Amino acid sequence: MSLYHSGIGMTSQRTRARMIDRLRVQNIEDEVVLAAMNSAPRHLFVEEALASRAYDDVALPINFGQTISSPFIVARMSELLHAGPTLGKVLEIGTGCGYQTTILAQLACEVYSIERIGPLLSRTRSRLREFRLNNVRLKHADGLQGLPEVGPFDGIIMTAATTHVPSALLAQLAIGGRMVYPKGSQKQYLCVIERNLQGYIEAILDEVRFVPILPGIVKN
Ligand code: SAH
Repeated sequence: MSLYHSGIGMTSQRTRARMIDRLRVQNIEDEVVLAAMNSAPRHLFVEEALASRAYDDVALPINFGQTISSPFIVARMSELLHAGPTLGKVLEIGTGCGYQTTILAQLACEVYSIERIGPLLSRTRSRLREFRLNNVRLKHADGLQGLPEVGPFDGIIMTAATTHVPSALLAQLAIGGRMVYPKGSQKQYLCVIERNLQGYIEAILDEVRFVPILPGIVKN
């Protein structure tokens, strides 16, 4: 799929291929996720000064005290979400630089992503416009309310940590849908919540490190 401008350069294509090899060693097996990450120019989602480190397996700062998750974490969360039902509508809470959003755009029919920091979202908006992701809608709001007017969602992904999931979000998960999020404050774990006809089942997985979910919005 040719979503991006050509002319990214052989160096980054080769660097991306090495990142994909490393993700395979780290047991990421979902070929759709790997293909999406192989085509997304991760170096264009960080400041130019950090571009040379964009494909290393680290989280990097993206301004406003926020971070872009490491390639492994993005792959892991995407794989967990994609292992659920067919992804029609997906909701992401915490757009940040839009890298995870861009991967989700290749796994789902429609992606809705909410970010609370206005200036961060404006930059991401212009970046994603350049990439012509026409199945992504961005919203400046407090993601903890979700998007009741759009739900239910087959998948919900939160890219900031919370100690508990608000009932508003659980209510917007479709029956059969799944939610992937980091749970906790000091110690955090990646969790998957699945909704079935009887209710919700939660699985607690790997230990992780994320910035916290914060309430309210930042305007300027
Ligand atoms: N997936 C992002 C990760 C960004 S870090 C990326 O690839 O860049 C987490 C993001 O969640 C931050 O941008 C932060 O501002 C946002 N966030 C935190 N609390 C939020 C809330 N209540 N609603 C919406 N976004 C929130």
